[in-house]
Amino acid sequence: MKEDIIQLSIPTPFAVGDVHAYVLKGEAVTLVDCGPMTIEAQQAFVTQLKQHHLCIEDIDQVVLTHHHADHVGLLDMMKPEIRVLGHQVNEPYISRDPQFMQRQIDFMDTYFQQLGVPLHQNECERIVKQSYTYSCTAHLDSVLKEGDRIKGHEHFLVVETPGHAQSHLSFLDEVTGNFIGGDLLLTTISSNPLMEAPDEGQERQKSLIQYKKSLHRLLTWPIKTIYPGHGQLITSHHELIKERFKKQEKRAHTIYQLLQRKEMTAFHLCRTLFPVLYEEALFLTMSETVGQLDVLKAAGQIEEIEKDGILYYQAN
Ligand SMILES: [Zn+2]
Repeated sequence: MKEDIIQLSIPTPFAVGDVHAYVLKGEAVTLVDCGPMTIEAQQAFVTQLKQHHLCIEDIDQVVLTHHHADHVGLLDMMKPEIRVLGHQVNEPYISRDPQFMQRQIDFMDTYFQQLGVPLHQNECERIVKQSYTYSCTAHLDSVLKEGDRIKGHEHFLVVETPGHAQSHLSFLDEVTGNFIGGDLLLTTISSNPLMEAPDEGQERQKSLIQYKKSLHRLLTWPIKTIYPGHGQLITSHHELIKERFKKQEKRAHTIYQLLQRKEMTAFHLCRTLFPVLYEEALFLTMSETVGQLDVLKAAGQIEEIEKDGILYYQAN
């Protein structure tokens, strides 16, 4: 059955601007993502639902593309019996699990020191807690994974598209070629592959390597239109992906050249690449830098040397 996708545009307090949530009206009324937990977002959400002759009570389930606050915060205004579905990794984030939060802080404290970041006191705690500011306190009722179908809209196939977030899922309508892509591919900005604390006893996931893999997979699916988490609908995703790859390769090459001249820490590189941005967006810019170092390391182009607990990188 063909069904329409209703796009809601909800304001966020973030630089990225509005976030899009999508309503699917099939055998169930399903909301894909919601918006950040702010008064403005709540008002916009209710008003826009009304324009489509809907109200919050009509929504049967919420499906999440990923756990970031601008996509999940409004879960807090849903009716209590609503079903929330998403990747397993969402759970500790959307429930604000205190142990997990502490693990995130500890991971960042340790890792950022190894990367040569001169940390102010409690800086990691501040960064981690800040990421929850406009988020929710909710739980998953059901876990979605690769190959599943969205209940009530069985033509929507669930695909795992990690990189921007470890919890990232996208949804492909196999009948129409519509693809709800969360923050996998955006026209306005290149999606950031963010660092995340690994599971206990596990290694850190290499977000940029995963992200590139997800983009390669995106090229293989029969997609007509991408309904993204931010910005305009995308109808020529092959071109846009090519542009993204080119930009990534260019940055990787810049880093390689810098490391040919001298060995550097990730932080030193980050400051060199983002001399203005790095201070106000330390986490984002460090995530990007570490992502590129992971790619170069995996390609055998650079090596990592540890000296007194600090990691240095140099070109091979
Ligand atoms: Zn996001």
